[in-house]
Amino acid sequence: MKKFGGGLVWFRRDLRWQDHAALYHALTQCGRVYCVFVFDRDILDSLKQQGITADRRVEFILNSLAELNAALYARGGRLWVQYGLPTEEIPKLVQQLKVEAVFANEDYEPSAKQRDLAVEKILIQQNCAFFRFRDQVIFAKDELLTAQGQPFSVFTPYKNAWLKRLTSADLASYPVEKYLSALAPINTLQELPSLEALGFQPSNLVTLPLPCGMSGAQQLFGEFQARVGAYRTQRDFPSVKGPSYLSVHLRFGTISIRVLARFAYETAFSQPSVADGANTWLSELIWRDFYFMILHHYPYVVESAFKPSYDAIKWDNNPEQFSAWCSGNTGYPLVDAAMQQLNQTGYMHNRLRMVSASFLIKDLGIDWRWGERYFARHLNDFDLSANNGGWQWAASSGCDAQPYFRIFNPVTQSQKFDVHGKFIKRYLPQLSKVPEHYIHAPWEMPLAEQQACETIIGKDYPAPIVEHAIARQRTLARYAIVKSPAIRAG
Ligand code: FAD
Repeated sequence: MKKFGGGLVWFRRDLRWQDHAALYHALTQCGRVYCVFVFDRDILDSLKQQGITADRRVEFILNSLAELNAALYARGGRLWVQYGLPTEEIPKLVQQLKVEAVFANEDYEPSAKQRDLAVEKILIQQNCAFFRFRDQVIFAKDELLTAQGQPFSVFTPYKNAWLKRLTSADLASYPVEKYLSALAPINTLQELPSLEALGFQPSNLVTLPLPCGMSGAQQLFGEFQARVGAYRTQRDFPSVKGPSYLSVHLRFGTISIRVLARFAYETAFSQPSVADGANTWLSELIWRDFYFMILHHYPYVVESAFKPSYDAIKWDNNPEQFSAWCSGNTGYPLVDAAMQQLNQTGYMHNRLRMVSASFLIKDLGIDWRWGERYFARHLNDFDLSANNGGWQWAASSGCDAQPYFRIFNPVTQSQKFDVHGKFIKRYLPQLSKVPEHYIHAPWEMPLAEQQACETIIGKDYPAPIVEHAIARQRTLARYAIVKSPAIRAG
């Protein structure tokens, strides 16, 4: 006997049907199950207000929804795709479809929590239950605490506690496929809204190409499984296919974190020849959980430094220098190539995220929040918790961040991680003729060399906008006011 006659599964950042906690619970508890996704008018309007007419993420979502809709249809259901405010659209569907419960996977971002509370308030008046499930992460909220019952603020003990607590049940997939007969039957495949109807133009997503949806995630995951053994040694070199490129899929839930963590964990413990790579990759997935947990416990990090004393730092915030950084015109090739990668593709390699963030904060003396906002606007995989964590790590103001006196040298980082300048030349064709010897610091080329390779510094490629050695000293002085590493009460 099922508990509810009708249930509604509200998809958000979990655009798949397999191993889906909310869908599983709805199918096992309800006689008829409907599925819905709401394009949130508030979010789309705010993009349009910023003058954004093409957005790879909106397109990624739309393509992924088309695949999800077709998959549900093939299994006897459908996906309702609404465009409006969740506080209006969800209650409207509840009434129209006569359901008694809404099922969703938990979202840990402060604005999403507020949205869910607002929807819940209305659903209560409608006599409709609202259930939320852990799905995006392996462990959430208070599931891992220190011996003193406090949230962790240092990664390694958190990781140890994560591994210690892990059981096979935490990695097991929800067997959704067994219960699909509860999907509410329909006769026609619903037309999804077009990109234009949502107010957007096509981006360059198709030409990238960035494979979307569950099939795109499976393709990338399949390719990565074959090279996981080399992950630890290759992941730092941006010209090499080292990482998984799955971040956008984790962001939109087109693949389950349990599937990925189970693969990493089992490979690490059962295949000695590739264990090293799998272990390192598992750690990255644990970092992801860690930052979700930090955002949940310390939502003030969205606006402020995790370590409050770092909010007293006085930034230079030079708008011209910021604009040179955004457009990849700082005169430091690795930083500029990184920014080109971001601007052209919406992806940036992890090593380069660290280098370009460090450059903005510690070479240009610009508030990390400016860079964080720029990344948030341009990253396909933008995730508030990981992005904020990454920026605060680079600014040394975050939990378990690098110490403030650790300042990446953009030239030595380039020499180390893009040895032959292959990545630089891919994204900065204007430097294609520069000899390898000068590619990391082209301003050091004598004029005759510049002429010989037809790359005049200051004309074909900018001279450096700051001198690293001087910037370094200024940063050390700026950070000297940082006294107390105290953590503000959550
Ligand atoms: P892989 O190396 O294959 O890693 C697998 C997965 O682990 C990633 O997809 C991601 O989900 C997770 N992961 C890896 N590194 C981290 C990390 N340091 N913190 C949290 N999760 C991690 N990641 C985002 O997903 N969204 C962001 O908005 C984001 N902004 C960042 C900003 C800065 C300044 C920095 C330094 C890092 C940021 N990261 C962010 C973390 C990391 O750079 C990306 O997750 C990674 O580059 C994505 O590529 P991948 O999927 O090939 O990663």
